Amino acid sequence: MKKELDLRFSKLLARANLWCPVRKEMLLNIFGYVSAILMINMKIINYQDVEAKRVEEGAKNMTIRWLITKEMGAENFAMRYIEVNPGGSSPLHSHCWEHEIFTLEGEGVMANGQEEKRITKGDFIFVPPNEAHQCRNTGQTTIRLLCMIPYTQTQ
Ligand SMILES: [Zn+2]
Repeated sequence: MKKELDLRFSKLLARANLWCPVRKEMLLNIFGYVSAILMINMKIINYQDVEAKRVEEGAKNMTIRWLITKEMGAENFAMRYIEVNPGGSSPLHSHCWEHEIFTLEGEGVMANGQEEKRITKGDFIFVPPNEAHQCRNTGQTTIRLLCMIPYTQTQ
């Protein structure tokens, strides 16, 4: 389809060039637009189609789905969808990369081993590099989080 379009366009462009350069410019713009539509590379996937893996080491009652990954072509960031069930928690841990977290649903606390702060639906959380962190579900419903991490720091 794309090849055929390219061929047709080059013929059209050759003719347009004879008419006037303004028309040629206009055609180039239109072609760029049509071409971009035909070459959609974005991926649209439902999170429920991604396997929910249990987080074992030091975690309680939580799962993680790696939504956007390097394997998919994401070179800079990974997006993970995390569920922490009532009474569950992530391990208290730290690392040299940051977390960017958005709370989609649920209530609980983010702790750093010394103090803790409440989180609820709509809160977003920036965990700076090297700060210990743990998410604990203190509510009655599942906490659902989106958590982004950079690939560059984790390699
Ligand atoms: Zn972490």
